[in-house]
Amino acid sequence: IDYLLLMKERSHLKIVCETDPLTGLLNRRGMETYIRSRHYQWTVIACIFDIDDFKKYNDTYGHEAGDRCLLEVTECLGNMVEGRDCIVMRYGGEEFVALFFSDDVQYVMLCVDECMRDLAARRLKSGEGATHGYVTLSGGLAVSGEHPRRMDDYYKLIAEADAKLYAAKESGKQQVLY
Ligand code: GH3
Ligand code: MG
Ligand code: MG
Repeated sequence: IDYLLLMKERSHLKIVCETDPLTGLLNRRGMETYIRSRHYQWTVIACIFDIDDFKKYNDTYGHEAGDRCLLEVTECLGNMVEGRDCIVMRYGGEEFVALFFSDDVQYVMLCVDECMRDLAARRLKSGEGATHGYVTLSGGLAVSGEHPRRMDDYYKLIAEADAKLYAAKESGKQQVLY
C-alpha cells in the first residue's frame, strides 16, 4: 500500500511540475517530456503566439482581469489543437507555443486562422491605447527542415518562430507570419 501511495504521489508531482497552474497548459518541462515520449520522428511546425498590448490590458482592467483574458486565449488555443497531432504550452507570461507534428504549412495556417477568429469572436475589449480595439494575438511560424532529433533543435525552431513573431509585431500586430 505504501508503495502504491508513493507512486500515486509521484505521478501527481510530475503533473504539477509539468503544468502551468493558471492555464493548466503544459509548461516547458511538460513539453520536453512529451517530446521525449514520442516514439516516432516527424517534421514539426512551431507556432509562437503573443497577446498584443497585454500590458495595457492589465493596466486598464487589473491583473485579475488579465488572468481571465489569459484563460480565454487558452480556450482558443485548446480548441485549435483538439483532435489534432499537436501540443500547446504556456511558454512565458503571455506567450504560448504550439507544436504541430506535421509538414503541412497550409493546414497549420488554417488552424491558426481558426484560433484567431475564435478569439476575435469573443470581442474582448482591449486596454486603453492598444493597437486594436479587441484583444488579438500576433505570432510566428517555423518549419523544421528535417525531423528534429535533439531537444536543442526544438528550441532553435521556436527561436526561429520567435523572430517571425517580432516581425509580426513590427508590422501592425494581429497576424501570424511565416
Ligand atoms: P506587445 O504587443 O508588444 O506584445 O506588448 P505587450 O504589452 O503585450 O508586451 P509586454 O511584454 O510589454 O507586456 C507583457 C505583459 O504581460 C506584462 C505582464 O504584466 C503581463 N503578464 C505576464 N504574465 C501574466 C499573468 O500571468 N497574468 C497577468 N494578468 N498578466 C501577465
Ligand atoms: Mg510577450
Ligand atoms: Mg504581448
